[in-house]
Amino acid sequence: MPEQRIKRSTGGTLFVVATPIGNRDDLSPRGRRVLEEADLVAAEDTRHTGRLLSHFGIKTPQIALHEHNEESLAERLVDRIENGETIALVSDAGTPLISDPGYRLLHLAHARGITVSPVPGPSAAIAALSVAGLPTDRFCFEAFLPAKKAARVARLEALAGETRSIVLYESVHRIDACLDDLCGAFGPERPAFLGRELTKMHEQCVAATLSGLRQSLRSGDIPAKGEFVLVIAGRERGESATVEVDFERLLTTLVRHLPGRQAADLAAGLTGRPRNEVYRRMLALRARDDS
Ligand code: SAM
Repeated sequence: MPEQRIKRSTGGTLFVVATPIGNRDDLSPRGRRVLEEADLVAAEDTRHTGRLLSHFGIKTPQIALHEHNEESLAERLVDRIENGETIALVSDAGTPLISDPGYRLLHLAHARGITVSPVPGPSAAIAALSVAGLPTDRFCFEAFLPAKKAARVARLEALAGETRSIVLYESVHRIDACLDDLCGAFGPERPAFLGRELTKMHEQCVAATLSGLRQSLRSGDIPAKGEFVLVIAGRERGESATVEVDFERLLTTLVRHLPGRQAADLAAGLTGRPRNEVYRRMLALRARDDS
């Protein structure tokens, strides 16, 4: 069968091309061909993508498209595609739009009836899930947790009842604090996985409990260097959403009739939730009742 050419006879196409998250050999042959044949590569960082393109001898011109100029640039790019050009969108690593720019461009492309086409490939989230050894029948992608501790803890509390495996991205600056908060929110024994520098020379794939991962990071067995992705097992399914509803009701009732510490201890004992999580929830309930 003849190879499908990427250019179409009328109007152009917006290709969304996944690029390697470390190992350049992970750029697919189709990804390479699309980048070669496109009229323009819209890249998050043209210097970064320039290195990838020159490694493969690709001379396609680039334009920078990042979160600060996407709004204004999207219109011009869509105009060019309407006039027959083919544009390949890439980010620095992995799949564009997955914690990376591109949403506004794709939104506008659909609104204007432009042909869009994915060139799938690497993504740190899927790479981690594929080796985590945790349930993958259902999972949720939470990307980066908030940088500030209070917001991060609140976000994790909202995830307390989550039964799907949870995928997180984390930077080297916050990985220790993040694991600390994860232990507090989900309990230190929750099964988890840490992928560091996936597909790169110093790749590490570690399956352990949350406290085991924290310990390995603190001992230096997992160096605090490079890029990290975490997968955390969801809450045991048997406990699921009913427990969540009962928990709120239980805690509200206990708080009304018992001194704080006693109410928190009882609720933690009855539900198996970490005590500090119950205590924080109790304080929130009290604040709500006082206001
Ligand atoms: N679009 C990318 C994707 O599809 O995976 C993600 C971009 S996001 C801005 C960058 C984050 O992805 C990093 O901070 C890290 O958490 C994760 N990441 C990217 N490459 C990685 C790698 N090789 N190993 C582990 N995590 C990685």
